[in-house]
Amino acid sequence: MPTPSNTTAGLVCAHHHLYSSLARGMPAPPMTPTNFQEILEQIWWRLDAALDLETIRWSAMLGALEALEAGTTAIVDHHESPNAIEGSLSVIADACAEVGVRVVCAYGVTDRHGPDGARRGLEENERFLRAGGRGLVGVHAAFTCEPDTLAAAAGLAVDLGVGIHIHVAEGESDADAAQRLAGLTRDDWLLAHCIHLADDHTLRGTIQHNTRSNMNNGVGYARPFRFSSPVVLGSDGIGGNMIEEFRLAYVKHREADVLATPETSWGWLENGLRLVPEAENDVVTWSYEPMDPWHLAFTPGVRPLRIEVDGEVVLDEGGPTRVDAVEVRAKATEQAKRLHAKL
Ligand SMILES: [Zn+2]
Repeated sequence: MPTPSNTTAGLVCAHHHLYSSLARGMPAPPMTPTNFQEILEQIWWRLDAALDLETIRWSAMLGALEALEAGTTAIVDHHESPNAIEGSLSVIADACAEVGVRVVCAYGVTDRHGPDGARRGLEENERFLRAGGRGLVGVHAAFTCEPDTLAAAAGLAVDLGVGIHIHVAEGESDADAAQRLAGLTRDDWLLAHCIHLADDHTLRGTIQHNTRSNMNNGVGYARPFRFSSPVVLGSDGIGGNMIEEFRLAYVKHREADVLATPETSWGWLENGLRLVPEAENDVVTWSYEPMDPWHLAFTPGVRPLRIEVDGEVVLDEGGPTRVDAVEVRAKATEQAKRLHAKL
């Protein structure tokens, strides 16, 4: 048996977009985005519109594989594919199950494709959850939804006994999210980003922080330590390496406050287990000992050697046991080419 000090529970990526796994290497947009709104319009909203069920499947397979290879056994995913909505959450759930990673799915409801698009998004959440899928009701963001759509999503989540997974105040265009969501939020909501959320906001739910993605989009630092609600860490679609996200969350915190310690960011990482308690029983044996925040903050390249999910070994001697990593990467590359050609 490994000593407790080189093992941890499964790590949780509390906000992912598995569909973005095939985005790397995509052709440059027609115009260079100069702000967050243009990054959404020029990159992500062109990419998600080009997805079909086959590219969704292989982006999820690749994203799940990369997460597993980094010791992340649970992914809280937020999905959008406006031209392939029906069945998309099942495709993602099946791909993650095939690799051996837990996933909490959500379809991001939005009015940016008209009321019909919003209705179909709500229906996909409902279909998946009523069929017994593990998930939350997804909402893209308050600024792309009509008040009726926000209320319908909140009501559906209550009916189904799950929370809402939503982007909140990630950019200036969503700075009034707290007003638009007032009275709707509950403790089981997952509020992603919260950069422009006031310190004394009254929203209920878990605050979700994505250090690397926020830096990449130039949207500012959320300063998650200012909130009294629990904080969790995610990648926002840039891989599934949560040790890396922890390390970055720590130095970003330290940059803002030289008294910050890695224990705070490690606590944010561990809080992910509140969202996916099953992952507490997963056992990850690491290449490094001890798995202590003060060590890990300054130790690059720590990787899992063996991973047990639900009592089954899903990674051993560095490789996945359920899928062939070389084959998954080859298929994903093939599908990425097809996706990029549609852009
Ligand atoms: Zn996101």
